[in-house]
Amino acid sequence: MEKINLKGLTQEELTELSLSLREKPFRGKQLFEWLYKKRIDSIDSMTTLSKAFRDKLKTKAEICNLKFVTSYQSSIDGTTKYLFELKDGKQIESVLIPPRTAFYDNKSLKLDEQKRLTVCVSTQVGCPLDCIFCATGTMGYKRNLITGEIIDQVIQIEKISQKKITNIVFMGMGEPFLNYDNVIDAIRIFIDGMNIAARRITISTAGWIDGILKLANENLKVKLAISLHTLKDELRNMLIPLNRKYNLSKLLSAISHYYERTKLRVTYEYIVFKGLNDQDDDVKLLTKLARKVPCKINLIPFHSISFVKPGIDLKPATMEEIELFAQKLRANHLTVFIRSSAGEDITAACGQLAIKSGK
Ligand code: SF4
Repeated sequence: MEKINLKGLTQEELTELSLSLREKPFRGKQLFEWLYKKRIDSIDSMTTLSKAFRDKLKTKAEICNLKFVTSYQSSIDGTTKYLFELKDGKQIESVLIPPRTAFYDNKSLKLDEQKRLTVCVSTQVGCPLDCIFCATGTMGYKRNLITGEIIDQVIQIEKISQKKITNIVFMGMGEPFLNYDNVIDAIRIFIDGMNIAARRITISTAGWIDGILKLANENLKVKLAISLHTLKDELRNMLIPLNRKYNLSKLLSAISHYYERTKLRVTYEYIVFKGLNDQDDDVKLLTKLARKVPCKINLIPFHSISFVKPGIDLKPATMEEIELFAQKLRANHLTVFIRSSAGEDITAACGQLAIKSGK
C-alpha cells in the first residue's frame, strides 16, 4: 500500500490521521507544527513525539521532499530559477524574485515592498491552456501537482537560499484554477502553518471563470491577478485560446462579481507586444475597464520569443515604448507598474528550463 505523504496535509487531515492511529487529536497540531513551522524532512526528526508513535506513523506515512536538480541565477538582477524533480521523475520550475527586480520603476516602492522576497510557484506539470506566449503551454498537460509538491517549492527554496520568503505568486507552470482544491489547501497551509499573510499571496489566472467565482466565496483574502493582455476578443482568442470558452464579457462579469464579494483590488497582467496591444485605443479600453473595478495594471516586457509558434508575429515592445504606454494610462489616473524583465539571461519565463531538461 502506498504511504501517505504527510507534507501537504492540513491540520484537520493530520488530526484525522492521528485519530486513525488511536492517538489523541492534539497530535494533529503537533504534526502540523513539525511539518510547516519547524519544517523537518523526516518523521524521525519529530523528537517531541514518542518513538512508539513515530514508528506507528512510519508504517502508514512518509514525508516526501522535492529533489533539487539545479538552479540558475541571473547575473543581471539576481532572479534565481530552480528546477525540482518530483517523486515520479517529472520536473517543475519555481522562481525566486528579489525585491529590486520585481518592478522596473522600483524607486517608487515603499520600504515594505523593498524587503519583498517572492517565490513564483508551479501548480501543474505542463499546462493544457496553450497560451501563445508561454513555453509551458508548448509542453501540454502532464498532471496536477499535489498540495505537498506546491508548498515544498517554498520550503526548499527557503532552505537552499537561507532567506525568508515573504510573498508567493501562483504564476509558474500551470493554470492554478485547474488544480483548485490543492491550490486552496496549499494557501491555507501557507497562511496557518507557514505564517505568510493572505495579502502577500497572489493567484494569477489566464481567466478560468469557475475558479474566480469559487475563490470569491472562500473568504481567503488572497489577491487575484488576471492575465489580460488585451481587451479585444479577437486578439485575446489568439493569445489565450481559453478566451474562446470564456470571452472577455464573461471574464469581466466574473471579476465584477469577485470584487462585489471581496472588495479586493484586482491586478491585471499585461504583456506589451509592439504595435499589437499598446496603441491609443488600448489605452481607452483599459481606462474604461479600470472604472468598473478598482485595479492596478502590471505592464510586462516580453522577451521570450523563441517558442512562439511559426507564422505568429509577436514583437517585444522596447522599454521606451512601454514607458510611453504607461504614461498614457497614468495620465488617465490608472495605477500602473512596469515589471522588470526579471531573469532575462536565465530563460526565466515559465517552463523554459523544464522543457530544456526534457522532463
Ligand atoms: S501562461 Fe499560464 S495558463 Fe497560459 S499556457 Fe502558460 S502556464 Fe498555462
